[in-house]
Amino acid sequence: MTSIDTTAVELSPATARPNLLGMSQGQLEEFFVSIGEKRFRAAQVLKWIHQAGVIDFAQMTNISKELRGKLAEVAQVTLPAVQREWDSADGCRKFLLRVEGGSAVESVFIPDGDRGTLCVSSQVGCSLDCSFCATGKQGFQRDLTAAEIIAQVWLAARSLGQFDGERKRRVTNVVLMGMGEPLLNFDNVVTAMNIMMDDNAYGISKRRVTLSTSGVVPALDRLNEFTDACLAISLHAPNDELRNKLVPINKKYPIAQLLASAKRYIDNVPDNHRKITVEYTLIDGVNDRPEHARELAVLLKDIPVKINLIPFNPFSLSDYKRVKPHVMKEFQDILIKRGYTTTIRTTRGDDIAAACGQLAGEVNDRTRRSQRYLQKHSQAGQKQSADSDVESASSSGTDLSSNTDLSSNHSNSGQVFARSSG
Ligand code: SF4
Repeated sequence: MTSIDTTAVELSPATARPNLLGMSQGQLEEFFVSIGEKRFRAAQVLKWIHQAGVIDFAQMTNISKELRGKLAEVAQVTLPAVQREWDSADGCRKFLLRVEGGSAVESVFIPDGDRGTLCVSSQVGCSLDCSFCATGKQGFQRDLTAAEIIAQVWLAARSLGQFDGERKRRVTNVVLMGMGEPLLNFDNVVTAMNIMMDDNAYGISKRRVTLSTSGVVPALDRLNEFTDACLAISLHAPNDELRNKLVPINKKYPIAQLLASAKRYIDNVPDNHRKITVEYTLIDGVNDRPEHARELAVLLKDIPVKINLIPFNPFSLSDYKRVKPHVMKEFQDILIKRGYTTTIRTTRGDDIAAACGQLAGEVNDRTRRSQRYLQKHSQAGQKQSADSDVESASSSGTDLSSNTDLSSNHSNSGQVFARSSG
């Protein structure tokens, strides 16, 4: 694993000038009209920023000098600072981006042959607290802006040499599966996705941009009006009883509502050959039994899906364990026998904590959830320590009443999240 410290590559000065980075072509056209300029300038600026990687107006040479000067006065193109990049042994690259408000978010580039998938974050932390997810344990601070979302693509493209014509390693696919629930940041996510797919920007096919949701049904019901990108749903359980525990938003929008909404989405996309990707994280002894696989097969029988099985990736603060390989294979075989295309997601970037469910960044938590988890974890650690002290004391005959060091785990608590960012 290599680590490159690129602190303060770009800073984001707080200023009232609009940041053109996060504007779609339509929004840029409105902006140019609002400053008395022609609409076609929008396509020019979009190409400079997202295809050439140029963010300094002075270098946008097919724009008149006068307009370049005007743009420098009334607008800006700014990006979050890349605080750090890590390269994993298997070719993944993780980025830690410092955003306004004192937090940091993560994105990961995952190469696979000709394909280069960027996993992008949509929020600082997440308010939904799925029980198997490292981001959820971090609490929540705020939504990312459209500029901060698309900046993750821009910064990865620059890091990979894409703007210099490097063709070997480039972002060909984007999945909104990083930190946050994309549908809780609807407008900014939709704007950023439209920039990803715009031919004057990154030109990524709608078949290669995937939004993944844990099931915010009212927002999913609106999604067709704004995009026809691919859809993935984080299911993780074949029934409401189990899913209520793993994905708490299920209590509000149960499985039947989620699947009906997802089906409406896919029925309404112009290209009707597409399938919904169902993500199912397999957790040892929790949702990995053959009866769960059989129940899942019945649940999905009327919906065009492909199933992606993801082995749970352990992280601090979680007591869940990784599924055993032969159990995962058996689960997959049951689904395949029942006619489902079922793949197992290879764990990538494990050595840099970039695997699925491990992204955590550094969240300036408004919900105090991270603090509660740390406390709970610390108390569990103290109890464990006390229990083992009792055991060893009773075997050695020591008097525990004088033991004042039972809180020693406490001093490590603040380090728990450091694994993913350091
Ligand atoms: S799995 Fe997704 S929705 Fe659930 S807590 Fe993690 S980031 Fe949020």
